[in-house]
Amino acid sequence: MVSPLRSTLIALSKSTRMQDLIVGMPISRRMARRFVAGETLPDAIDAIRASNATGLLATLDFLGEHVHSQAEASVNADEYIRALLAIRQAGVDANISIKLTAMGLAVDDDFCYRNVRRIVEVAALLGNFVRIDMEDTPVTDRTLAIYRRLRGDFPNVGVVIQAYLYRSQEDVRSLMDQGMAHLRLCKGAYDEPPAVAFQAKAEVDQNMTDLIRLMLESQDKFPGAYPAVASHDHRIINWVKAYTHHHGIAADRFEFQMLYGIRRDLQQELADQGYRMRVYIPYGTRWYPYFMRRLAERPANLLFFMRALVGG
Ligand SMILES: Cc1cc2nc3c(=O)[nH]c(=O)nc-3n(C[C@H](O)[C@H](O)[C@H](O)COP(=O)(O)OP(=O)(O)OC[C@H]3O[C@@H](n4cnc5c(N)ncnc54)[C@H](O)[C@@H]3O)c2cc1C
Repeated sequence: MVSPLRSTLIALSKSTRMQDLIVGMPISRRMARRFVAGETLPDAIDAIRASNATGLLATLDFLGEHVHSQAEASVNADEYIRALLAIRQAGVDANISIKLTAMGLAVDDDFCYRNVRRIVEVAALLGNFVRIDMEDTPVTDRTLAIYRRLRGDFPNVGVVIQAYLYRSQEDVRSLMDQGMAHLRLCKGAYDEPPAVAFQAKAEVDQNMTDLIRLMLESQDKFPGAYPAVASHDHRIINWVKAYTHHHGIAADRFEFQMLYGIRRDLQQELADQGYRMRVYIPYGTRWYPYFMRRLAERPANLLFFMRALVGG
């Protein structure tokens, strides 16, 4: 079952009043730094460089979801273009991850598409890649529709599929059929109702391995199908290692991904074993919703935070 605590924290991640309170506290800024590389682009480039130095690849996320004006969405897209140029200039190995609600999805789908297209075009010119993160189910169809539009013109774009959704098997199959399955597979970070999503962890985990298997076993039939397994769950990771070893699937036909600041030991272990291991590196000042989702994923994080608050 999804815990009431998780639901509460995810609901609070959308509260502007709570945001003002939490962001204003030095202790929460300090704790957020565990999950966020810093507030500026140079901070983010430093974090990428440090990751690359130990064999880890990176994907960069400029924080700031749910904007409600074209002006804000354009500023966000401009920042990503700056980030792509900075990645090139610094000579580091990183692509970028974007959220459509940061790109103007709340304003208008066509505006959002055009705004993202600007980024994807620059990325294509630079030989780089853009991942579209998946947000909650009110925007799933629109996110996939914009992804399909972009992917029709650009091979350097991918999207995310969440294993907690019942629909995901069908989405993966149809994206593979269309030759568009450059997919990050994750469990899913939002609070979704039983009408659309598995609630039990065991069911989500089962669907996660089913989706990974579906992609790995069909890769030869579907050119371009490339799964990125985004999880810190050692059982899922061990399953992928065993499955690919058993079926002779080369380590360059998939990758692992994890979030900055989480299971660094396991990240390094995988890279040292010769797997592609990509770290998701967020930066920027608007870290509150991202931070709350990280607390929601692990009660121990929340406990640590509460203790720090009480202890001053
Ligand atoms: C690179 C990447 C990109 C992602 N992109 C998206 C996206 O676009 N859309 C989306 O909905 N979700 C996204 N997620 C989040 C994902 O859906 C899960 O919420 C998150 O990864 C936790 O699930 P898990 O697979 O790690 O397994 P879990 O079963 O939740 O956790 C397994 C173990 O991992 C460790 N762990 C997990 N989370 C934390 C944490 N916050 N702090 C400390 N330890 C932790 C713990 O040891 C835990 O026991 C992404 C995750 C990653 C790694």
